[in-house]
Amino acid sequence: MRHYRRRFHPWEKRHFQHLLAESRTAPPRLVCRLGSHELWARGEGMYLIDAIPDDAPPLVREGIARRRIVDLEGACPCGASLVVEPGGNGVLHLSCTHESDCPAGNDILIPAYMNWQRR
Ligand SMILES: [Zn+2]
Repeated sequence: MRHYRRRFHPWEKRHFQHLLAESRTAPPRLVCRLGSHELWARGEGMYLIDAIPDDAPPLVREGIARRRIVDLEGACPCGASLVVEPGGNGVLHLSCTHESDCPAGNDILIPAYMNWQRR
């Protein structure tokens, strides 16, 4: 599960989903690299996503690569989709619940990332 938070009015959910869907009809284009992130444009949408560290082990690279696919395409190769849900107090939640064996899931990616960082 991965959560993003932003102040939103509940009625904006449909509008936001429409903008996301419309944005994804255009091909993704890399705008620039910003430290450990990359800024991508797709139609009217701008996406700030994690860059894949060159020196990361294969499992970490695969997990981050899958999360990039979710961010840009809205779904993971494991079958999980990005879900937009209005939370309380006008906060919009974007979440993606990966399969238990997916390297992009928190249960696999977080320990793999921590092991790599401890070296
Ligand atoms: Zn997945």
